[in-house]
Formats: sequence, structure tokens, C-alpha cells
Amino acid sequence: MQEKKINGKTLRIMIGDITERDTDAIVNAANNYLKHGGGVAGAIVRKGGQIIQEESDRIGFVPTGSAAITTAGSLKAKYIIHAVGPKWGESQEEEKLKNAVLSSLRLANDYKLKTISFPAISSGIYGCPKNMVAKVLINTAAEYLKNYNTTLELIEFCLFDEESFRYFKEEFDKI
Ligand code: ADP
Repeated sequence: MQEKKINGKTLRIMIGDITERDTDAIVNAANNYLKHGGGVAGAIVRKGGQIIQEESDRIGFVPTGSAAITTAGSLKAKYIIHAVGPKWGESQEEEKLKNAVLSSLRLANDYKLKTISFPAISSGIYGCPKNMVAKVLINTAAEYLKNYNTTLELIEFCLFDEESFRYFKEEFDKI
């Protein structure tokens, strides 16, 4: 685990399973229909319970680059923020990914949350290059902490594997 202070707030990168995190919110790498089948989404619903899928079904469609919030069932986190990142090859991937992160951070602020944990959105089934995802996620979070007066005191990136962690560390070290 590594941490940096930005404007008195903490930016953290770590290796772990995001479904185990006890941050106020964990972010899900969701699809437009919030159908949580595979990847991190599948793991969140399997562990947190069908209530998460039921609340998601009541929300329905979420455009790429935005986010929606549900409770977190039996997980330690209080909320799931479902962020919809781009699929690689659909155009303007970096901008959409940045918007998905910003939408998640704004929702967390609206709910007055203090801590949030993100996975490497779009870098799994959606096929975006891990170095691009690391760059956009780290820089968007760092800029947000620098420029906005937010309730958030911690933004964490919980990476599932060593390779993803290395890409995030490369960007983290440049901040
Ligand atoms: P997407 O469809 O947006 O690419 P995925 O769920 O396929 O979403 O993958 C996003 C990232 O989340 C990948 O880097 C994957 O390795 C990672 N991941 C999968 N399961 C977990 C987990 N339990 N905790 C943290 N990260 C996870």
C-alpha cells in the first residue's frame, strides 16, 4: 500500500479484493444496464447479495461516463457507486473514463462520504489498456482532490493484480 497527501486528503493505491473494503463506498465497473454478471460487478453481487441487483434494476439505464448509487447489501461498504466506463474501441475512451470517475466522486460528495475505493474501471472485460486506465484514474482523482472542496478524505485504488498495481504506481509516482 502507498499513500500521498494532496490538499490534506489521502490518495492511496493498494492490491486487494474491493469487495472486502470497508470504505464508505466501493465503485463498481458496471455496464449501461447495470446487469452485474462478470468481473468485479459479478463479485460484488455474489458477495453483497441480490438486493444490489434489485436496486440497480430500479435505476435501469446509466449512460457511459456517468454513475449511479445503490446500497451495498451485506458488504462492509455502505454504498456501491456503479460507474460505467467505456469499451475499448468505441471512441473517446479517455474522456468517457474521466467522466465516469468524476461522476462517481461527485455522487460520493453529494452523499457526504469520506472514503471511496475504485477498481481499475474498463481494464478487464472492457479491454482498455491498463496504462491508459491507470493514467486517467490517478490523474482525475489527484486533480479532483487538488481543485475541489470535497467531503472525501480518502480516494483509494484497489487493484486486483500486481500488473495493474505497477501501472498505477508508475502514474502515482509522477504526482
Ligand atoms: P470492465 O468491464 O469495466 O473492464 P471488469 O470487472 O472486467 O470491468 O474489470 C475491471 C478491473 O477490475 C480489472 O482490472 C479486474 O482485474 C478488476 N477486478 C476484478 N475483480 C475484482 C475485485 N474483486 N476487486 C478488485 N478488482 C477486481
